[in-house]
Amino acid sequence: MNLSQISSLTEDQAREYFEKIRWPNGRTCPHCGSVESTKLQGKAHRVGLYKCSGCDDQFTATIKTILEDSHLPIRTWLMAFSILCSAKKGVSALQLQRQLGLGSYRSAWHLAHRIRHAMTREPLKGLLGAGGGIVEADEMFVGGKPRKPAGRHVPGTHRGSKPRTKTPVVGLVERGGRVRARVIPDVTALTLKAAVRAHVDPSARLMTDENRAYIGLGSEFAGGHETVNHAAGEYARGDTTTNTVEGFFGLFKRGVMGSFHHISEKHMDRYLNEFSFRWDLRAVTDGERTVEAIKASEGKRLMYRMPVGN
Ligand SMILES: [Zn+2]
Repeated sequence: MNLSQISSLTEDQAREYFEKIRWPNGRTCPHCGSVESTKLQGKAHRVGLYKCSGCDDQFTATIKTILEDSHLPIRTWLMAFSILCSAKKGVSALQLQRQLGLGSYRSAWHLAHRIRHAMTREPLKGLLGAGGGIVEADEMFVGGKPRKPAGRHVPGTHRGSKPRTKTPVVGLVERGGRVRARVIPDVTALTLKAAVRAHVDPSARLMTDENRAYIGLGSEFAGGHETVNHAAGEYARGDTTTNTVEGFFGLFKRGVMGSFHHISEKHMDRYLNEFSFRWDLRAVTDGERTVEAIKASEGKRLMYRMPVGN
């Protein structure tokens, strides 16, 4: 379903749609896995409440998903999933608040972060470039001002007022496939090489720009390591380019500037997850991508208190 179809649902229909996505093979007790249960009906019971014949416990479809403990209607959740799964450049909490008619900015912000959490695909399944594929690696700095070496005075700043710093991010993109993007503490050879080793299959062909930090990785990958020299105005040589990973970075940066303006470093990975999720599922429809995100909400209940503020 697309957004307009979801927004035309009643709350009962939205719950039925959510149940169908959560239980494609029929209702299953989230406590014990039993497929035998009965619907609890009548005024004494919440709608959508079931009683398990296996463990005798009661359950609803939202138990053990990120929707558990939420006071928002399921329809609102589904709309939010649809909006975040369709927006190429992301959606600000303010936009979400307006579009969903939510009472507060805060609840829109929390809703968006819960959905970003559902979009997180951890643990990562498989390395990039397995089977001899091409993987492009690059790094970028997002937001704020460039980092200054510690202990040096930064002009225009006062003691105690920390200047906004740019956040370094490493990106690894499988040509024609998936992306991994993460905040990293620095862009030293040690950090960048560790990121490549952690995410790229040894059978892959690695491609980077001329950054010396990547030098020496060639012998660790069966396909070798090729570089393009951006400083010399070279952007492609044969099929050697880093245009794909730069395309992902460009999309993310436009999203940050257009929708979020500033993302603090502590939240950056969540937004990278959101953009990676849409990138990895770019070949399917908005509706199918929405279903995938809703499915991923299972078992992703937030076990910690969400941070406040942005
Ligand atoms: Zn049960």
